[in-house]
Amino acid sequence: MANHDKFYINGQWATPSTKETIEVHNAGTGAVMGSVPAGGEKDMNAAVEAARAAFDGWSQTPAAKRAEYLGKISAGLKARAEELAKTIAQEVGMPIKMSARIQAGLPIATFGNYAKMAGEFAFESQVGNSLVVRDAVGVVGAITPWNYPLHQIALKVAPALAAGCTVVLKPSEVAPFNAFILAEVIHEAGLPAGVFNMVTGLGPVVGEALVKHPQVDAISFTGSTRAGKRISELAAQTVKRVTLELGGKSASVILDDADLATAVKGTVGNCYLNSGQTCTAFTRMLVPEAKYEEAKALAAEAAKAYAPGDPMSETTRLGPLSSAAQLDRVRGYINKAVSEGAELVTGGAEAPEGLSGGYYVKPTIFGKVNPKSTLGQEEVFGPVLSIITYKDEEDAIRIANDTIYGLAGGVWSADTGRAQKVARRLRAGQIDINGGPFNMNAPFGGFKQSGHGREAGVYGLEEFLEYKSLQMKA
Ligand code: NAD
Repeated sequence: MANHDKFYINGQWATPSTKETIEVHNAGTGAVMGSVPAGGEKDMNAAVEAARAAFDGWSQTPAAKRAEYLGKISAGLKARAEELAKTIAQEVGMPIKMSARIQAGLPIATFGNYAKMAGEFAFESQVGNSLVVRDAVGVVGAITPWNYPLHQIALKVAPALAAGCTVVLKPSEVAPFNAFILAEVIHEAGLPAGVFNMVTGLGPVVGEALVKHPQVDAISFTGSTRAGKRISELAAQTVKRVTLELGGKSASVILDDADLATAVKGTVGNCYLNSGQTCTAFTRMLVPEAKYEEAKALAAEAAKAYAPGDPMSETTRLGPLSSAAQLDRVRGYINKAVSEGAELVTGGAEAPEGLSGGYYVKPTIFGKVNPKSTLGQEEVFGPVLSIITYKDEEDAIRIANDTIYGLAGGVWSADTGRAQKVARRLRAGQIDINGGPFNMNAPFGGFKQSGHGREAGVYGLEEFLEYKSLQMKA
């Protein structure tokens, strides 16, 4: 049982001002894994004050020294990689092998990456008679979700620290244990007191207290579009910089000359990664009308490789959903799609056989989905693929762009030039061509209601910098 009862504030483990706690559940069994404190406004204020007090010293610390700390944090996480992979496999439900590679591996790499970047980035440049200086934006509030919990934390905390900002983190209450491991690692790395602080609790309580706080200069948020809108409204009152990484309804556009078997298999795999709880998931597979039957059969076959199972087993490819709330939500969407007339190709809302306790759902595919229906428009966040047919390339582009979201997408074609042309017309931040792999240095973020601002690579560092120009007299 992992019962945490303190926050990390000003370089110390601090006793909460409240008695309330939040239980954390094991996604694979449904059992209570432990709890974390549910803080109040007082706790958040203490964390912000500590971050404010530490800002001058940290922002004036040479970038090479900040880089050293980031390197130590990366090494500290690496030393606890196995524990992180197991913790997140249980909190989130991602199968252990993938959890090790993605949930533990990516944050280790991200801290290492920003250690290197902090040492190399040009924080100053000369423009005519001006010296243009990149200053740290100030105190950063980071609010993160549960699906790739430590990755999303690392994408904010590492570049913010590299830029010279101090941070207050409000991690997800659904998967918070990994954040405590990070806080312990940061403490051991000897980061100066107040540079990193962490308060757990509910979004509308401690999250909003952080967003509203006048001493916070910027908010970096990843989560639902619903919460992102609320955060934007609140942050406007103190004119804070806000970066929003929100939901998606990404289209995988399979053109008529694509290798259909490869494209369908790639799309199904992408959609089912982390049981569909991936903001960039290819949840809409767009196929030419004439290829519908073939694509449907290939997709149903591909889905068979994703039998739901225990996330702690080395052979599981599809783990459970992260929480009981997620399970209800995903089942609700499946039932709604059936009632709206979509063709159920495989899967369904009933619980998979032989698994009890955890939040399991069958890998599901719907065919001939109306792009305007609920399933065609809303983010399900479960292993549910919609096949949508299109008439011609123009129609495919129109359907792909016809949602409120614009986070990611894919294009498949035998002709990469043609695929690139289509990709350029998709209104989304990241498009994979013929299954092009993830690149941790490429900018990550959305168009439209998927948010604004970019994370990862040098683009992520720049989110935490302000321009300042010093005009010099000749
Ligand atoms: P959520 O919005 O419910 O919660 C995210 C975080 O925000 C949590 O820490 C929560 O406590 C906090 N929060 C909630 N309401 C708040 C409020 N009013 N004020 C301040 N903080 C608040 O989202 P979730 O269920 O944790 O995550 C799933 C969502 O995240 C999905 O919609 C998914 O697409 C999105 N997501 C986006 C990206 C991306 O980079 N674009 C990445 C992962 C997840």
